[in-house]
Amino acid sequence: MTGDEKKQLLQFLDLASDFLGTGYRGEREEYHIDDDRPRDVAGSDSLEAIAEEVRACQACKLCQGRHKAVPGEGVSQPLVMVIGEGPGADEDSTGRPFVGRAGQLLDKMLAAINLDRNTNCFIANVVKCRPPNNRDPEQDEIAACAPFLQRQLALLKPRAILTVGRVPTQALLGTAEGISRLRGRFFEYQGIPLLPTYHPSALLRDEGLKRPAWEDLKQLRAFLNSPGNNSVNIDGVGSDRGTSSAEITKPFEEQN
Ligand code: URA
Repeated sequence: MTGDEKKQLLQFLDLASDFLGTGYRGEREEYHIDDDRPRDVAGSDSLEAIAEEVRACQACKLCQGRHKAVPGEGVSQPLVMVIGEGPGADEDSTGRPFVGRAGQLLDKMLAAINLDRNTNCFIANVVKCRPPNNRDPEQDEIAACAPFLQRQLALLKPRAILTVGRVPTQALLGTAEGISRLRGRFFEYQGIPLLPTYHPSALLRDEGLKRPAWEDLKQLRAFLNSPGNNSVNIDGVGSDRGTSSAEITKPFEEQN
């Protein structure tokens, strides 16, 4: 029952009691009733609300050293959600994910299969605050941050998840297996197809990983193009989940 409905019922009961008592309508103060119905939490959630909470979050020790939390960025109905490990120095100073050297390479990798954070991707990390000296995020930090990722996924409903690197892949799949065994194979996370590949920083350290990473990305594009997955969009603007067919362009290692 809403606050308004309660108020109407009380007014009706007053009226009935006046009528049965004196036969006249009595003077009464107006009722003030708060609408205390439980909120539809999932229905009222939003990416901006999550981002605000991330910026104010103190759920783990990473908040102590952060300059800016990095909630994530991209379109609200992405084809692909890219999930990395955690912010580095550039991300910590800007509040934006993957903007350093690794981020620039990630953008090229995505562009090579016609994906882009401005048109058809959303990019986030398993932890939203920078671990000191870029160490791996610890289990308790990943666990403290997990509800944010869950809420982002629930809103974004991407067609596929691309995890980059060992940390997000192991965290989401709940495995200790190494990235070189996990990459290039499709898994599922909460009903969403998930493809792991190497982290762009690993490609910067080891050129030899670019070729297998490119194979992984082609697999992702083939999946997005496959019949029954009418999710392909290369132009993307304003319609993140269009149905045009997409050509794979050039391997990112051959781009400038
Ligand atoms: N590495 C990550 O895993 N995430 C970022 O946002 C930047 C670098």
